[in-house]
Order: sequence, then structure tokens, then C-alpha cells
Amino acid sequence: MSEYEVICGLEIHVQQNTKTKMFCRCNNDSENARPNTNVCPVCMGFPGQLPKANKKAIEKSIAAGLMFGSQIPERSMFDRKNYFYPDSPKGYQITQNFHPIAIGGNVEVEIKEGKKNIRIHHMHLEEDAGKLTHTAQGSLIDYNRTGTPLMELVTEPDINSVEEAVAFAKEVQRIMRYSGASNADMEKGMMRFDVNVSLRPFGQKEFGNKVEIKNLNSFSSMEKAFHYEIRRQTKALKAGETIHQETRGWDDVKQKTTSQRSKETAFDYRYHPEPDLPPVVHKQVLVDEIKATLPELPIVKRQRYVDYGIGYDESVLLSNTLEMAQFFEDASSIADDPKKSAAFITTNLLKHLNENHIDIKDSIVTAKHIGELVNLINNETISNNTAKNEVMSFMLETGDMPSKIVEEKGLKQVVDTNLIDTLCKKAIESNQKAVDQYKGGHKKAIGALVGFCMKEGKGQVNPKHISEHLEKLLSE
Ligand code: ADP
Ligand code: ZN
Ligand code: MG
Repeated sequence: MSEYEVICGLEIHVQQNTKTKMFCRCNNDSENARPNTNVCPVCMGFPGQLPKANKKAIEKSIAAGLMFGSQIPERSMFDRKNYFYPDSPKGYQITQNFHPIAIGGNVEVEIKEGKKNIRIHHMHLEEDAGKLTHTAQGSLIDYNRTGTPLMELVTEPDINSVEEAVAFAKEVQRIMRYSGASNADMEKGMMRFDVNVSLRPFGQKEFGNKVEIKNLNSFSSMEKAFHYEIRRQTKALKAGETIHQETRGWDDVKQKTTSQRSKETAFDYRYHPEPDLPPVVHKQVLVDEIKATLPELPIVKRQRYVDYGIGYDESVLLSNTLEMAQFFEDASSIADDPKKSAAFITTNLLKHLNENHIDIKDSIVTAKHIGELVNLINNETISNNTAKNEVMSFMLETGDMPSKIVEEKGLKQVVDTNLIDTLCKKAIESNQKAVDQYKGGHKKAIGALVGFCMKEGKGQVNPKHISEHLEKLLSE
């Protein structure tokens, strides 16, 4: 165990999924667009152009803020953050420095030791910058991203380990998706992290100087950079050095953080209220209306699924997105059997979808298919094995309903009474001890006999039929 306590606060940038940009009417989706085609005089910062705040972006921020349990003040305001950089054609960024859209709040995360609460300092709304690509020939710039609505969530320094940071980041991703504000797709750069790290000797009250590692764009790079920084700072402190406040970056090739700028050269952004935009006033009715549309939190959903008897990891899978959760809940309500529905979805369906890079919303096997499949097992039309193997693979191939497949392929379970009788008699002969226990009043001992038959019958028989027949034989 290290002698230093890890202190960390995260700043998370999340791009919104609005149709248009933050302050102009440009298309906000440039996934398939050629560079510099979704631009206009406003987001390119031409002189005399006036920004107009996107109402949807404000509503989405309120939705996200409410899901983090934040206060939504009646008024928020935009400010100018002045700096020159090629990715920002205006020479400043419109952000919220003095009056952000959401204040306070918290996220409960689940870690090995249990649950932990991480407090949110605030969340503000701003515009994203353009995208620079550095090549051997020179640097390229794409302004399509310039002006994308961007939420920045800032935590209190409540995070004390890498595990907590990753759990928190993943939970924020889920909540952002649940709120409808963002697709929070890491591969597409929709979510980026700054990790602030400092160490202090256990028992010391004051925080040590923090180092900020900027612009981490995957959970794994965040994890690696954080681990590296803890090791680097521990080593420095042990050698009697002082940690200076600075900004560092993660070098994925060298697998280390490298210094970018120190506090001494920190920018003065000369923030001032944005003169071209009026304050944003949120009427309480609007906030209440948005609140009424919000789903339950992912952690609440997970707990509900665990209460159904579903394993924790499966519950996480099933509640990662609202679409996934809806799929599962539809299937399990058709069959009135959450456990079996969850098993088919997590072990058979999701495996297939992941292997073939298919999104749940494009799956030809729907919640109706899964619900009907589970019903066919529960009313003993087909065996669990037939469902898992033949029916499932035909279904994934054709999208046909399970009842149709069972009919056409003749997969109905035949009750082979001869086989059942043979197996049960053999079980009774070979398990004298269990038979005696059963006859002596220990009814649960029949389980051993059923198990024997299932093994001998290689899954061709139904456990319910077996135990009924065993009971009959044993009472004779
Ligand atoms: P700055 O003024 O440098 O931007 P802030 O006080 O705004 O610093 O904090 C930025 C982030 O750094 C927040 O997430 C905060 O929780 C975190 N933070 C602040 N002080 C420390 C510290 N000593 N160690 C680790 N994280 C810190
Ligand atoms: Zn524009
Ligand atoms: Mg700050």
C-alpha cells in the first residue's frame, strides 16, 4: 500500500446530438460529410455575424443536469473565453464561466467495495472547436466540428482511485445517453476527459498541487494515463521533489504523460459576458416538463434487474442504453420471465450482434421473438436446448418468429415416455442413498435423481417430466 492518498477531479466534455449547431443552423452531424462543408459565417467567425442560442441544446443540457441531480438556476449566461488557436476561427470560445446551466449534483458509482458518491461541481454549455490533424506534410483543419454544442461536467475532487474514475466515467456515459443529450460515443470523440491528479500523505489535510492530463478520449487511455501519473508523482515525492501545477498530455505511443505547459505560463482568458447573446432564462415550467420526461437512472434500473434474480454483469449489459433496457423489458414482459429472457439476450443475441457489429435497434430478432421463444419453453412446446440451438440460429438467420420455425422445422418436443421411464428406473437403481433419503422424508433428495436423468438423457428430456415420473415411481 502506498503512503500517499490519490485525489482526483474529472472534467468531462460531451458533445450533444442536436440537429443543428450551438449558435447557428449548420448541420451538427458531420459523420459522413466532407471536411469544411458544414460551416457558415457564424461558426466561421466572420465579422458582424450574430450567434443565436439553440433552444434544443439548452433543453438537452437541462435534461442531463436534472439526471445528475443538479440545480437548474433560473438564469444562465454565456461568456467569452479569449484565446487564439487555429481550431477556433473567432479568436474566442463562447462558454459559461460565471453562470453555468447546472450547479451541484452527484453520481453514485459502484466499485468493488460498494457504492460511492461523487459530487458534481457544475456543468456548463459551450461550443466545440474545430478538429486539427497533424501530418508529415503539415496540419489539416476541419471546421465541421466548430460550434457543436458541448457540455462540460466538472466534479469535486472526490475520486480516490483509478477504479473510481473509470466507474464514474462509464456511469456518466450512461446517464448522458439516458438523458437523450448525447450519444456519448467515445470512438467518435463525443466524450473526452481531463483528469486532475494530486497526491498527499495520508492524514494530511491540504491537497497537493494538481496535474491536469488533458484530452483523453477513451476509457483505456484515461486508465493508463491516471496510473502512470500516480506512479510518476509517487516517485517524485519519494525523491523529495515538489510537484508543480501543470498541464500534461498522454502520449499513447510512449505510454507516458508529457508536460505541455506549467502554471507560470497559464493563459489569462479574460473572460467577459458575451455581448451578442442575451441571458438564458429557464422558466420553472420548462424545467418541470423536462423532468417529467426523464427515465429512471441506470443505477436504479440495474438494481431492479438484480432484484429480478439477474446477475450484476448481465444487469449492466442490459441497462447500458435505454434501447437495450427497453428491448429486455419488452421481452421479459411478454414472457413474464425476466431471468430466462435476460439469459437469451445476454448469452445468445448480444454475442451474435456484437460479433456482426449490429446495433440492437437494427436487430432482426426483436423483443417479441425473445418473449415468444421463452413462452415456448415455459409451456413445454420446445426444450431449452432446442430453443438455444436450432430455433435461435434460424431466428438470427431469417428473422422468422420462433413459433413459425418450430412448426416448419418440426422442432416440437416429443415426450418420449419410454425414454423417461428407462432413465428414471436407472436413476433409482443407481442412487440408493438418494432414494432412501427421499423415502425418509427428505424430498429435496429427488434433485440428485433428476440430475442423473438429465445427464444420462443428454438434455433430450424435460426436467419437469422426469421429476413427475420419479415421484410416481417412488410412491409405488
Ligand atoms: P482550475 O482553476 O485549475 O481549473 P478547479 O478548481 O476549477 O481548477 O478544478 C478543476 C478540476 O480539478 C475539478 O474537477 C477539481 O475537482 C479538480 N481538482 C481541484 N484541486 C485538485 C487537487 N488538488 N487534486 C486533484 N484534483 C483537483
Ligand atoms: Zn454554422
Ligand atoms: Mg477551473
